[in-house]
Amino acid sequence: MAANPENPATAAPRAPGRKASRHRGEGQWAAGHFTPLNGNEQFKKDDDGLNVRTRIETIYSKRGFHSIDPNDLRGRMRWWGLYTQRKPGIDGGKTAILEPEELDDEYFMLRVRIDGGRLTTAQLRVIGEISQEFARGTADITDRQNIQYHWIRIEDMPEIWRRLEGVGLSTTEACGDTPRVILGSPVAGIAEDEIIDGTPAVEEINRRFIGNPAFSNLPRKFKTAISGSPLLDVAHEINDVAFVGVVHPDLGPGFDLWVGGGLSTNPKIGQRLGAWVPLEDVPDVFEGVISIFRDYGYRRLRNRARLKFLLADWGTAKFRQVLQDEYLLRKLADGPAPEQPVQRWRDHIGVHRQRDGRFYVGFAPRVGRVDGTVLTKIADLAAAHGSGRLSTTVEQKMIVLDVAEDQVDSLVEGLEALDLTARPSSFRRGTMACTGIEFCKLAIVETKARGASLIDELERRIPDFDEPITININGCPNACARIQVADIGLKGQLVLDADGNQVEGYQVHLGGALGLQAGFGRKVRGLKVTAAELPDYVERVLKRFQAERADGERFAT
Ligand code: SF4
Repeated sequence: MAANPENPATAAPRAPGRKASRHRGEGQWAAGHFTPLNGNEQFKKDDDGLNVRTRIETIYSKRGFHSIDPNDLRGRMRWWGLYTQRKPGIDGGKTAILEPEELDDEYFMLRVRIDGGRLTTAQLRVIGEISQEFARGTADITDRQNIQYHWIRIEDMPEIWRRLEGVGLSTTEACGDTPRVILGSPVAGIAEDEIIDGTPAVEEINRRFIGNPAFSNLPRKFKTAISGSPLLDVAHEINDVAFVGVVHPDLGPGFDLWVGGGLSTNPKIGQRLGAWVPLEDVPDVFEGVISIFRDYGYRRLRNRARLKFLLADWGTAKFRQVLQDEYLLRKLADGPAPEQPVQRWRDHIGVHRQRDGRFYVGFAPRVGRVDGTVLTKIADLAAAHGSGRLSTTVEQKMIVLDVAEDQVDSLVEGLEALDLTARPSSFRRGTMACTGIEFCKLAIVETKARGASLIDELERRIPDFDEPITININGCPNACARIQVADIGLKGQLVLDADGNQVEGYQVHLGGALGLQAGFGRKVRGLKVTAAELPDYVERVLKRFQAERADGERFAT
C-alpha cells in the first residue's frame, strides 16, 4: 500500500479500530500522527525526495549550485545519493560551530549503490571513467559495498546518471530516509561452502522497493543485509533487517530473520525473531518489516528514529506478532540460529576455489581508497584474465570472480603491481576508515590518510603479527566505520597533547566484535591518543597481546 502523508486517509495501513497509542507523541503514522514534528519530516511531507531528480536535471544542472533550493540541497538531494562535501581547509574544531552553509562546498559527494556488492567489468570501467572525468579521480570503496565519489558538480549529474544507468547502475536512494543499498554476500552463488544463494532476493527487493514512493519517506535510513554464507560476511548484526543463511532441520536451507541492528546513537546488535524465511518469501518479509518501520517508526527525534528504538520498546515477540498478524497475514515458521563461523576473517581475501572449479581472488587496497585510474585497470585486468564479474565487500575490499585456475597467479601478480595485494598483512586486511575531514562536514579529524599510514607503520614495526585484527577509524562520534564493533575502535575527536595543545586524536574503544559473539568495544576511560601517538599506542597494545595471549585466544577475549 502506498503511504502518502499528504493524505492521512491512505497514508499507512492500519488495523481496523486501532487506537492511537501512547507513542502518538513520537509522530507515528500508525497512531494517526501526520503533523511533522521536525524540519526533516516537514520537507519530506512537502515533497517526496525522489522528485528532486527532475529539478536537478531541468533546473539545477543548468543554472548551477546557487540555484538549488536549501531543502533540496541539504535534504532531498540525498534521495539520489548526493551530499554536499566539506569546504577544504576548515579545521575540525569548527565543525560544530559553523552553520551548514559555511561548511558546504559547492561540490558533492555522490554514492553509487551496488546492491549485493556485485559488479560487471563493464560497470567497473564506467565507474572508473566517471571518476576520472567528473570526480577528480576519487572513488572510495565504502564499508556498505558502495562506491563513493567526491568533487561532483551539479552540472555534470545528468551525464553521470546517463552513463551509470546505461550499464545498470544507480544512485537511487543511496542516501536519505530510504531503503539503502542491500548488502549481499560478495561470493553469493559461487562459494563452495554457501548455505543458500540470496541473490534472487537482493534483485527482487531492488526491483520492487527501491525508488518506490510507497517506501521513500521512512522515519530514518533503513539498512538491509542478505547472505547465505556461513562466514556471516555482510555485518548482518548491525542492519535494520537481515536475512542470514541457515539450514532448517525439516524445511531445508533458508534464512534466519534479524531486525533492529544499528550503530551510531545508542548502538544495538540486531535481534533474532526466531523465524525461518524461505528464499522466495524474503521480499515479502522485507516489505513487512520496512512497512512496520514506515508506519510505526518514531518521527519526532532523528536520533531516536531508527528501527532499533521501536524494537527496544516492543520486544521481539510483539514485533514478530505485528509482522505476522498485520502485514504478512500468516505465521512464519520457527527456525534455528546461524552457526558460529569456522574462521574470524569474513572478507574472502586471498585465492579460493569456487563450486564450479574456477577461483575467486579477494584483494585489499588500503582503507578502501582506490581511484578512477586504478578501478579502470582492475576492470581491464579482470577481463584480461577471463573474468567478467567482481564484488565489493563490507570491509572496503574487492574480489575478482570466475577466474580459471591457470590465470590465478598472473592475476595476483597484476594486482600486486597495482599495489592491491591478495596476501595482505593483518593490518591492511583489518583496517577500515570512514571519509573523515577531507570531505565530510561532520568530521573532526583526518581518517583515510592516517589509516593508510598506520597500516604501513604497523607492517614495518610488527612484521610477524599474523592474528585477525580489526582497526576501525572514525572521523567523529558517528559510526560510519563501525568503531564499536572493532578490536581497536578509534573515535575521532580533539584531544590535548603533552603540552596542553588541542590536536587531532582519538578516543579508544577496545574489544568489540561482530559474529555470533558480537558485542561493543569497551570505551577505555580516559584513554585518548593524539594522532601523532597513534602508531606507538597500537604497536604497544598489539605487542602486549602477542606476548600474553593464550593458545587460540583472540584479541577481543
Ligand atoms: Fe563523517 Fe563521522 Fe561518518 Fe566519518 S564517522 S564519514 S566523519 S559522519
